[in-house]
Amino acid sequence: MVRVTVWNEFRKEKTDESVKAVYPLGLHKVIAGFLDEDQEITVRTATLDEPEHGLTNEVLEATDVLIWWAHVAHREVEEAVAEKVKEQVLKGMGLIVLHSGHICKPFKKLMGTSCTLKWRDDDRERLWCCNPAHPIAKGVPEYIDIEHEEMYGEFFDIPQPDELVFIGWFAGGEVFRSGCTFHRGYGRIFYFQPGHEEYPVYMDPNIQKIICNAVHWAAPQMVVKELVCPNPKPLEPWKAD
Ligand code: ZN
Repeated sequence: MVRVTVWNEFRKEKTDESVKAVYPLGLHKVIAGFLDEDQEITVRTATLDEPEHGLTNEVLEATDVLIWWAHVAHREVEEAVAEKVKEQVLKGMGLIVLHSGHICKPFKKLMGTSCTLKWRDDDRERLWCCNPAHPIAKGVPEYIDIEHEEMYGEFFDIPQPDELVFIGWFAGGEVFRSGCTFHRGYGRIFYFQPGHEEYPVYMDPNIQKIICNAVHWAAPQMVVKELVCPNPKPLEPWKAD
């Protein structure tokens, strides 16, 4: 079983009518809903306004993969919580950062760059798979058309990804590294661009499949309790046969 926590800022769904119309119960509920249909995933949710943003030590220790969606309140995320998430990734927890989460504190800490990008409201996207043999692309078509999506364009200030799985093309002419993987410490990270809050992008079965695949890919291979190496003891002398 992969234990997933879907974290959402959960602000614009409460204040913005156009967002409320698409995600009345919050983006996290929709994401948790389709993940819950996978027999090998158990899912819980957490939001910004809960104590410790819903990410207590107990929750993080019981999380194999954390999904992060945020947009307008990155600054309200407590430094200590962001640091804890980063540490947990270094110890082996998977992290999936969605859409405007590109500039969230834990992702920026893990990337070490500004993670800024170009953007423009309301465009049309064709999301191309450029790594069809990658586990995150399993069962996903060559391209997915997203009728309404916010344009995200290069330059996206991230370190060179370990793997590029998707490239987004926008009708305005821009392209974007829309699906990128990174390894940090013992943990695996996937950044995935689609998912502007005013459009029903997370209702698209192909987008759901990619996120589901990413959960399985990012599930820990190994989790360590401490990042400190034990004091080395002298090794046994090597003997030839
Ligand atoms: Zn957006």
